[in-house]
Amino acid sequence: MAHGSDSAPGKRQVFVLGFAGAPALRLDLDVPPGPVTILELLPAIRAAADALFGRTTEALAAAGSPVTCGPGCGVCCNQLVPVSREEALALARFVRDLPGPRRRAVEGRFRQAVAGLEEAGLLARLIESFERGIHKPGVLAALQRDYWAVGVPCPFLEQGSCSVHPVRPVICRQYSVTSDPALCARPFTPGVRLAEVRHSLDLAGALAAFDGGRARPTAALPLTLALLLEKKLEAGRLPKVPGPEMLSRFLELASRFASPPR
Ligand code: SF4
Repeated sequence: MAHGSDSAPGKRQVFVLGFAGAPALRLDLDVPPGPVTILELLPAIRAAADALFGRTTEALAAAGSPVTCGPGCGVCCNQLVPVSREEALALARFVRDLPGPRRRAVEGRFRQAVAGLEEAGLLARLIESFERGIHKPGVLAALQRDYWAVGVPCPFLEQGSCSVHPVRPVICRQYSVTSDPALCARPFTPGVRLAEVRHSLDLAGALAAFDGGRARPTAALPLTLALLLEKKLEAGRLPKVPGPEMLSRFLELASRFASPPR
């Protein structure tokens, strides 16, 4: 399934992700050796994310508080899912590369999702808020609550499962809970408190704040708007840097992105 615009031949290399408060993580990754944009580095970043989040999951299980997310439960995929601009672009290209009937089905669900947001009066607010950067937690929280109320499933959700699992965004890999899964269906109900897993680092946040060359102000958008904003995303110019150097820069930046307290 993992194909398309973000694939590039890789060379196996070892990297170390260090950060305060936990042992460093050794990462054995396929990284394209030549100059690439962040789009071609996404597979390596996803692999790094899986390694880091996998370690959290193992530690929670060992401590007797296992992750309770299970196969076929896509309830959290009805949330507002903020992804980096480049992840959105990679997914838009991924959709365009799908075979005809499948592409039309997915594009149809994207159109339906956007129409639902527009009908609810939320579309313009979402675009404006994300274009200006969401730095105030209160603003994001209000958008998340209103988005949930509209009831817009991720266009990649099929029969409760992610249909793009190998190339799903980092934030989808990062999100899990240890609370009763039944609570996930009513996250904004007074008195309901989900026990969201807190990893050592917020890799999704770091990715949204990295253009492939250097750190930048957070540039994210709701996954649902990836196709709507595709032309705009394509217009951006991305730095090209040798893959290993780019990954080192990303990991260095990420090591400073401690997960926010819940
Ligand atoms: S990309 Fe997959 S995991 Fe992420 S919200 Fe969509 S369906 Fe869920």
